[in-house]
Amino acid sequence: MPVSYTTVGENLLMQFQQIVGKANIIVDEEHKYQYSHDETEDYSFMPDVVLKPGSAEEVSAILKLCNEHVIPVTPRGGGTGLSGGALPVQKGVVVSMERFNRILEIDELNLQATVEPGVITQVFQDTVKEKGLFYPPDPSSRGSCFLGGNLGENAGGPKAVKYGVTRDYVLNLQVVLPTGEIIWTAANVLKNSTGYNLTQLMIGSEGTLGIITKIVFKLRSYPTQDVTLLVPFSTSEEACRAISAIYMAGVTPSGMEFMEREAIIKTQEYLATVLNKKVNIDLPEGINAHLLIELDGNDQEVLMKEAETIMNVLEQFETGEVLFADTVEQKEALWRIRRNVSPAVNYYSLTKSEDVVVPRGNLPKLVTAIKSIGKQYGFNSVVYGHAGDGNLHINIMKEALSDAYWHKEVNEGIGEIFKEVVRLGGTLSGEHGIGIAKRPYMSLAVSEVNLRLMRGIKAAFDPNGILNPDKIF
Ligand SMILES: Cc1cc2nc3c(=O)[nH]c(=O)nc-3n(C[C@H](O)[C@H](O)[C@H](O)COP(=O)(O)OP(=O)(O)OC[C@H]3O[C@@H](n4cnc5c(N)ncnc54)[C@H](O)[C@@H]3O)c2cc1C
Repeated sequence: MPVSYTTVGENLLMQFQQIVGKANIIVDEEHKYQYSHDETEDYSFMPDVVLKPGSAEEVSAILKLCNEHVIPVTPRGGGTGLSGGALPVQKGVVVSMERFNRILEIDELNLQATVEPGVITQVFQDTVKEKGLFYPPDPSSRGSCFLGGNLGENAGGPKAVKYGVTRDYVLNLQVVLPTGEIIWTAANVLKNSTGYNLTQLMIGSEGTLGIITKIVFKLRSYPTQDVTLLVPFSTSEEACRAISAIYMAGVTPSGMEFMEREAIIKTQEYLATVLNKKVNIDLPEGINAHLLIELDGNDQEVLMKEAETIMNVLEQFETGEVLFADTVEQKEALWRIRRNVSPAVNYYSLTKSEDVVVPRGNLPKLVTAIKSIGKQYGFNSVVYGHAGDGNLHINIMKEALSDAYWHKEVNEGIGEIFKEVVRLGGTLSGEHGIGIAKRPYMSLAVSEVNLRLMRGIKAAFDPNGILNPDKIF
């Protein structure tokens, strides 16, 4: 049953203002606009009002009021999402978490940190690194996304292939429920078999079950050594086959990133002409894909032996000359290319950004299928991503396609890609979430029984359906 929501009128605006203070409420169209979109295509939905609370108690008061009056509430982090999770599709209130920006405690004895969800991911990584500690989740958007948004989507990044994703580092959460109740989901411990795992239920729930107001992370010690190599391949399929062979040889890289030729061409051009940060990579004829491989640890000799094993494995494949990054600058330049593929591709064309994941061994079949479906439907795509864990990003380019074609036929083509992904044992999203962009395709990957269970969980947390409506399913 569709919920009938209340529009925010003058009286409610006054009450919101009393909760957050005059400086933390936005009602004018110009300032609200930046909260109407994220990084998903060209979507834009204007909220009635944006609130910037500063404490869990203020979030609680907002949610109690919204629950009582049945007003939609959309939690927002850094607004870098690629599936539209933070967009207020039913208008109502956007709760921006930007004032929750404190790292509250770094507990070196227990390798833990307690933070607020509005801390920028890279700020957190850099702060713990100063103490020799390591927070591995590393989305390419790390300079602007928030930790709370990373939990919302269960963000990954290149290091997930060795160290796991966001959910692998969360021990405990303070959450404000849609009813306004404030809870802690667990305890700050490394093991916990005490009932259902509410912590993990919150992660990846895209702001539909509660608003996270504190996070307790576990950390690792920072690896002191790394080796980075860039391997050119004759074809994308050949590169994807090499990935499985490297694992079969017993090596676990800390990064195993795939970039097809077009991704490197566009990113080089973007870095040189737009960011003025030129990186030169040789792209001879016949080279159509690259793997960027990183090994890390604390013993350089061990890493060099692993690199040697990789070189031996690569002898079975059609590769070009392997580039070993010798200096910190060279390593940074190679990672600059990888981190800028998404902004580069989006600079040249509006895109639809897909984030599919399949069992690693099926990647060669997937890349072939993506290109063949693109040909059939008449769209170009740039494919890259975290291939070490079977996760590819497919940026489908609008270029000169008409709006009508973009919204109908291209979406049908995406449906075909998703069907192929599911046939190959995979699923719709590895790290960007479902939001509104992938919602129409959910039934391709998730059974009706599973959807019913998810709806039941949603109803248990949010009986009035106020929190982030119309997302996921
Ligand atoms: C150039 C670029 C590169 C990217 N690279 C990667 C990558 O390598 N890996 C990756 O995983 N993603 C990547 N992303 C996608 C995006 O950055 C991630 O999904 C990120 O985790 C979103 O964080 P955010 O703070 O911007 O969240 P937002 O987009 O603001 O919100 C995301 C979701 O979280 C919810 N949410 C936000 N804060 C809270 C809270 N406190 N409590 C409850 N729910 C909340 C929102 O409602 C929404 O559903 C990339 C995006 C861009 C633009």
